[in-house]
Amino acid sequence: MSDSDPNCLFCRIAAGEIPATLVHRDDDVVAFRDINPQAPTHVLVIPVQHVASAHELTPAHDQSWARVLHVAQQIAEAEGLDRDGYRLVVNIGRNGGQTVDHLHVHLLGGRQMTWPPG
Ligand code: AMP
Ligand code: ZN
Repeated sequence: MSDSDPNCLFCRIAAGEIPATLVHRDDDVVAFRDINPQAPTHVLVIPVQHVASAHELTPAHDQSWARVLHVAQQIAEAEGLDRDGYRLVVNIGRNGGQTVDHLHVHLLGGRQMTWPPG
């Protein structure tokens, strides 16, 4: 299992090689503000370990995946979103709208979300 891909944008952000506005960093999880925000709060939460998409998750990733979700929860609270709610989105593959092949959870909040999604 490869921990880091030198050609991966989000691996490079996690390694500090490409600047981003970090809102969280620990050994397992990094979170940073999306460069093209779609809501007043738009944060990407990623495992430090390279995983191409949620479809590639295995039981070996259970702990880091759970950590990603807990960090998303903590950031939502820190951003004051827990009262009114927010949305977590994981895009997978081309039809899912995934453009960066490193697993990431979009944390979107601060406005009313609509359904169905685009
Ligand atoms: P997705 O389309 O689900 O793969 O989401 C990729 C997200 O990464 C998009 O919302 C982009 O705006 C965001 N993004 C791309 N490059 C950067 C970057 N250098 N820093 C922060 N966010 C980025
Ligand atoms: Zn990566």
